[in-house]
Amino acid sequence: MDLANRPLKIFTVDDDAVDRLFLRRALQDTGLKLADIAEVDCGKAAIAALDNAFYDCVFLDYRLPDLNGLQLVQQIRAQGTLTPLVVLTGQGDQETAVALMKAGASDYVDKSRLNTDALAHCIRSALRIYEAEQAACQAQREVQVSNALLLQQNRALEEQRQEIQRQNLEIMRAYRLKSEFLAVMSHELRTPLNAIIGFSQLLTRRREERWTRQQAEMIKHIYSNAYNLLGLLNEILDFSKLEAQRLELHPGPINLAELAENTIAEMQSLAEQKSLKLSLQLNLQELMIINDPLRLRQIFTNLLSNGIKFTNAGSVLLKISSAPETPTDAVLVTVTDTGSGIAPEELAYIFEAFRQVDQSHSRRHSGTGLGLAIVDAIVALMGGKIWAESTPQVGSTFYVQFPRVVQTAS
Ligand code: ADP
Repeated sequence: MDLANRPLKIFTVDDDAVDRLFLRRALQDTGLKLADIAEVDCGKAAIAALDNAFYDCVFLDYRLPDLNGLQLVQQIRAQGTLTPLVVLTGQGDQETAVALMKAGASDYVDKSRLNTDALAHCIRSALRIYEAEQAACQAQREVQVSNALLLQQNRALEEQRQEIQRQNLEIMRAYRLKSEFLAVMSHELRTPLNAIIGFSQLLTRRREERWTRQQAEMIKHIYSNAYNLLGLLNEILDFSKLEAQRLELHPGPINLAELAENTIAEMQSLAEQKSLKLSLQLNLQELMIINDPLRLRQIFTNLLSNGIKFTNAGSVLLKISSAPETPTDAVLVTVTDTGSGIAPEELAYIFEAFRQVDQSHSRRHSGTGLGLAIVDAIVALMGGKIWAESTPQVGSTFYVQFPRVVQTAS
């Protein structure tokens, strides 16, 4: 509010006509722009007038015929009028002044000291206080509004959180069901598949049945396809165990040279089909270790079959040595191929489940994309680590380091 420019509406309450005239003159001499000076001579008329119209400032005499100043201030405030109220008191009545301020008066002036300057000062400060109070009220209202808004948003967020939690539970339930289904199905499928593998193997060995060349080929096909299928099913079963955190190790003494040589021998025919050189390099003094033979063989087989799968010419080399940093405590296995290699941006993801560099439907290589994720989990169970280096079109090297003596989790 700009006091200098806005014409003010003043209201005075005094039963003495001479005092009212004196106050009017003094107000007119203050130099403030005045729009109107309304006057009444008793408290009741003041209450009625202030209830109906707005005034910038009210001057009221403490001694009125119907009400005293304190009662009047109390009643005006009780009806919700916020206008500044200045009470004109008798000389030196401090106690009354304090009671008036407590009741809601904005200021008080000793009537005997009333003059133009005191009035102007009184009006200005009363209006300033009023303005500050109004601004504080407005700010409080705004705070209340934003509090209400925040409360509303909090409620909405809480509802969303509960909905997300409910969906999460549903997802987890579906996820568990899927894992259980995978585990049960792969387990159930393995039984008939093992029968197919067993019987087709038996048929190839039955010399007395003189198979034609074509028949012999067909039996070999049945065997090798069923064998590959078993590998895929085993991966799915392992993965469901991994998800259910049921993958575990059964450590025992192993001769590492024997295990590596057997694995290489088993994979030799696969390498020969692609005319690849598959070899083993053993640089290890102490060959006996404690580890899970099946799981260790699974790591070798997986890395070697990937090496063979992604290499079209050249070689795949399995190297076993002691870990350079902890030679007496850990073993380092590396599988190096001269194959397609892996682009640097893909290398970070190949240990994730279902990750295949070529994920198109027309991809050239078969596989579930689970092999490395399972190997990664097994190596972690062994307390070891796995990592890879690769150059596209040159080849890849996979490193697996694990302790010589592997402990079970329990
Ligand atoms: P899968 O072989 O069943 O696809 P893996 O988890 O064993 O799944 O491998 C994930 C992906 O990592 C492969 O699809 C392939 O893109 C890449 N990869 C793994 N080993 C090699 C390798 N020796 N050379 C090139 N790429 C590889």
